[in-house]
Amino acid sequence: MYSDEPGICNSEDDLSEKCAIFGVYNGHSASREVYFGLYALQHRGQESSGIASTDGKKIHAHKSLGLVPQVYSEKDFDHLIGDIAIGHNRYSTSGGTLHQHNQPVHNPGDPLALAHNGNLPSTKALEIFLTKNGIGLKGLNDSELIYEAIKFEMGKGKSLADAVTETYHLFTGAFALLVMSKDELVALQDPYGIRPLSYGKLNGGYAFSSETCALDTVNATFLGDVAPGEMIVAGKNGLKKYHLARGERKLDIFEFVYFARPDSLLLGQRVYQVRQNFGKILAEEFPIKADVVIPVPESAIPAAIGYSMASGIQYQQGLIKNRYIGRTFIMPDQRLRDRSVQMKLIPVPEVLKDKRVIVIDDSIVRGTTTGKIVKMIRSAGAKEVHVIISSPPVKYPDFYGINTPFQKDLIAANKSVSEICEIIGADSLNYLSYEGLIRGTNLPEKIFNTSMFTGHYPLDIHERANGIKTVSL
Ligand code: AMP
Repeated sequence: MYSDEPGICNSEDDLSEKCAIFGVYNGHSASREVYFGLYALQHRGQESSGIASTDGKKIHAHKSLGLVPQVYSEKDFDHLIGDIAIGHNRYSTSGGTLHQHNQPVHNPGDPLALAHNGNLPSTKALEIFLTKNGIGLKGLNDSELIYEAIKFEMGKGKSLADAVTETYHLFTGAFALLVMSKDELVALQDPYGIRPLSYGKLNGGYAFSSETCALDTVNATFLGDVAPGEMIVAGKNGLKKYHLARGERKLDIFEFVYFARPDSLLLGQRVYQVRQNFGKILAEEFPIKADVVIPVPESAIPAAIGYSMASGIQYQQGLIKNRYIGRTFIMPDQRLRDRSVQMKLIPVPEVLKDKRVIVIDDSIVRGTTTGKIVKMIRSAGAKEVHVIISSPPVKYPDFYGINTPFQKDLIAANKSVSEICEIIGADSLNYLSYEGLIRGTNLPEKIFNTSMFTGHYPLDIHERANGIKTVSL
């Protein structure tokens, strides 16, 4: 949401957080393909969903709060007609009742629709541009400011691709964007390629997706990742690539830790394998004596399997997840989050009773989940509970679209590992080393944004840098 302070999108209310985007150009029933794509990307956002499509004459849109299967009914596809469509699943840790910022951004009658995954830590350049051109800013979030800037240039008679080229330098932040006009679909990466965006061939046309798992779902053939600083235009002459800025890849490493689906390929690496590597490295770094190793489902399953493979300690499912409850983190307030942990996970006493248990989770952010899990495992009879986290301590807030909270809310920014261990009530607590994290990806450190662990922000966070303290716990 728009903050009173110029240039700052208020982090608590930003609504273009870690999200899913999916688009189809020249697809038979493009909106239906997008629907399946969004379904496969549900893990990236569960708060709202939307699709815009065009038949070359008009842009049609449908969006609403809820999960993909709740948002669309058969009759919605009667008007989501045409060969080009884009869609969006929104994720946000707050603002769950606000309808007005649902995506794709599109106002009836406008010649474009836009879906954004990412976040602009500063929107000053866009605001200055729009104000200078007489466009009001009130109530607009970062994605809507981008939309207005592109629309303004299209209003001068430019094509979508030309309008994007003209305004690209104003988008100061993290963005993977899909923008469509009545005859083109443009896929766009920020100069650091912080959020993933892949594309593939789909029948006679093309599909674009936050993650490759959705390309597989619609049976598209993977062609590649949109490069940092690149614009790919899908139009009547096929795919055309343009470099709008000098790119330097800084993929958010948290995609490997938590966000991405394990069956996705990120920069050529299968997420499942990378998470399993994290587990194997954890077994080297922390050879704990235990009877059983269990994951916190689902995200930590590959790491727990990796730990088991490398240590020889048997892998079991000691916590069963109710599959029909979404990710707890997205619950809009702490009270709901508290309750939802119990609704989501149930311990299996036969696996845990009288055992020395290693429980693996992918991350601790605020520190609310882990303590409850430890308690749950103990109450099922475990003799010892050793917590291992398959990422280093999260000490710095995120400004690029994953909406980890303010630094004051990050437990590792304020407490040492032994203090956290005491707070969560575990017998021991260990985190994957930073070096181990990088090694596990099979990719060089320099291609990652690791700011949540290191405090080094590759993309200028402008005004947001004030108030971030260096943590040396
Ligand atoms: P917390 O209770 O805040 O420490 O949350 C940690 C749990 O949330 C871990 O089990 C992670 O799997 C999950 N998690 C970590 N980061 C995020 C995020 N940005 N969005 C949603 N869930 C997350």
